[in-house]
Amino acid sequence: PLVLGIETSCDETGIGIVRGRTLLSNTIASSMDEHARYGGVVPEVAARAHLEALQPAIRAALAEASVSLHDLDAVAVTSGPGLAGALMVGIGAAKALAVSLGKPLYAVNHLVGHIAADILDADAGPLEYPTVALLVSGGHTSLLLVRDLTSDVELLGETVDDAAGEAFDKVARILGLPYPGGPEIDRAAASGDPTAIRFPRGLSRTSDLARHRYDFSFSGLKTAVARWIEQREAAGEPVPVADVAASFRESVVDVLVTKALDACAQHDVPRLLLGGGVVANRRLRDVALARAAEAGVSVRIPPLRLCTDNGAMIAALAADLIASGRRPSTLSFGADSTLPVTQIQVAEEEAA
Ligand code: ATP
Ligand code: MG
Ligand code: FE
Repeated sequence: PLVLGIETSCDETGIGIVRGRTLLSNTIASSMDEHARYGGVVPEVAARAHLEALQPAIRAALAEASVSLHDLDAVAVTSGPGLAGALMVGIGAAKALAVSLGKPLYAVNHLVGHIAADILDADAGPLEYPTVALLVSGGHTSLLLVRDLTSDVELLGETVDDAAGEAFDKVARILGLPYPGGPEIDRAAASGDPTAIRFPRGLSRTSDLARHRYDFSFSGLKTAVARWIEQREAAGEPVPVADVAASFRESVVDVLVTKALDACAQHDVPRLLLGGGVVANRRLRDVALARAAEAGVSVRIPPLRLCTDNGAMIAALAADLIASGRRPSTLSFGADSTLPVTQIQVAEEEAA
């Protein structure tokens, strides 16, 4: 099926068009620059930016795919999780489009969409099940067990406080680096020693593992970095920014990879899928690939433009739902900022 997907859960206005598992276009407008001076995404600013970006993005995506609105078989939209106001803008547009075209509408889960990004990777071959998925972005850090993208996604664990990307952004701020902090820390870390400072690994003590084996925590790490810098400054010593950045990054990467591979081992799943904007981190990819190889686990990493928020992954998920015979969503759904990952599609029509 030819599906247009709309993604507005955070600061990217993403419009994607797919035909089945083939990517035809993927248009992304980001309001990130507008959030930069606040050091994080401002919900009202994001919602207004979506409103302005949607129409041109839809037009650009149709042109790039060389299709017209009337060619579409279905419309797909993210209904959650995400920022309520931002989600509402996309949902309103999707409903208007579906109703005016008389086409079915599929309201889907953003996090499962991140997994669906993988099926658009033409070079990678089909996604095999079950697979463990590690999703790391500015808003999420989740470890999932995926038995079937369209029907069975289990949450193994998630962050109990900051998301991994959020931790990069906050530590960058502490170090006086601009927003978004991920790429800045990556750059600063390149010349640093990752073993210079032993920062804590969140929720990794034996006593934590009983209840939080697959959960993450990055807020203590952020505090540890701030305290370490304060002590240096109090002692009148210079702050070795590169070493702090490299050591911080190492702590985040170590915990992410250790817990993801632990999940693979415990569930006897030799496959790991990475997704989310933090996958841009070179060190994360390198450590994941190296340690997975040692453990006999194969790693899939979609192209980066499909790892960050985009509409193509939303369209891809809907196309797979359609292929597996799922009915469209009724128009009764709204934005659900805390939609659980187990709910892959919302408001599916009752069988006639
Ligand atoms: P959501 O959580 O809904 O997916 P988001 O917009 O916050 O939304 P993404 O766009 O997927 O998430 O990713 C952005 C995050 O990724 C930011 O926190 C940014 O700092 C982080 N990031 C980007 N590049 C890197 C990098 N090289 N290393 C680490 N983090 C990075
Ligand atoms: Mg973003
Ligand atoms: Fe996302």
